[in-house]
Amino acid sequence: MNRTRVDLEKQTQRVAVCVFSGFCSGVERAIRLAEGFLLERPGRALYVTGDIVHNTGVMQRLTSLGLKRIAGDAFPVDQTVLVQAHGISPVAEEALVKSRNQIINGTCPILRRNFNRFCRAEKQGFRFILFGDPTHPEVEAIQGLLNDVIVFRNLEELSEVSNQVLAAEKIALIAQSTKSVGAYKQSAKMLIERLKPRQLFQMHFSICDVTILREEEIKERAPLFSVVFVVGGKHSANTEKLVLLAKERCQKVFWVESVEEAKTCLPSISDTDSILIGGGTSTPLQDIKAIEALFL
Ligand code: SF4
Repeated sequence: MNRTRVDLEKQTQRVAVCVFSGFCSGVERAIRLAEGFLLERPGRALYVTGDIVHNTGVMQRLTSLGLKRIAGDAFPVDQTVLVQAHGISPVAEEALVKSRNQIINGTCPILRRNFNRFCRAEKQGFRFILFGDPTHPEVEAIQGLLNDVIVFRNLEELSEVSNQVLAAEKIALIAQSTKSVGAYKQSAKMLIERLKPRQLFQMHFSICDVTILREEEIKERAPLFSVVFVVGGKHSANTEKLVLLAKERCQKVFWVESVEEAKTCLPSISDTDSILIGGGTSTPLQDIKAIEALFL
């Protein structure tokens, strides 16, 4: 974790909170946009394309203010719609505009920059292969944005689908922003080994730094503790990645969504255990602090 080496004292505390915790800037911005609209216009509904945040408490609070989640493609008419941080496909956006909705663009600026880079590469004739989860909103947005993208979830799938892109003269490898860097590098290695001479290859570093730093911190600190709590929604891709990394390095790992759920784990923890608490990019710092307080 070269950018922010955690000092030894912090690494060996009985209870420690990961330095990289709390909302990422993209999620924080989307929540701010939703709150701003709902608090300034009490009684007006605000529709959102998916979960703004994979956190039940935050979603319940915003829902009580008037936030409504769009179900499937049952688009509202004549309303205001917030695009979630991971974006939507241009086709869905066009359909929303056709239904006379006003759009608030909550797409994370980091992703907007990635999407622009991909579009520029497409204009230069690159064919895309994307490391991501086909059901993730960011992947759906990229698929809608680019004419031809092949998606793979792991090395096995890459091995199966790589022939479809290997006929192209120019190949671009891209990744969903929350994917694991290690697995992305392995995918690049496999693809490069299969390239023919004179084929042009680009690897876009589209994994977000915020998730990389959390990944590195868990990798470095999880082996130093006997218990790791990873706090985050069960549908959150970046939280799941942290859980997997923690499990590879620590015997006792709990994936919890709330302080209430963390309390149910207490019988499995002894006074001699040392505890590290981290969380995904959708987890408010106060949830992590509330879990820390259980052990202070
Ligand atoms: S994880 Fe990174 S890219 Fe994704 S919303 Fe957060 S800041 Fe943006």
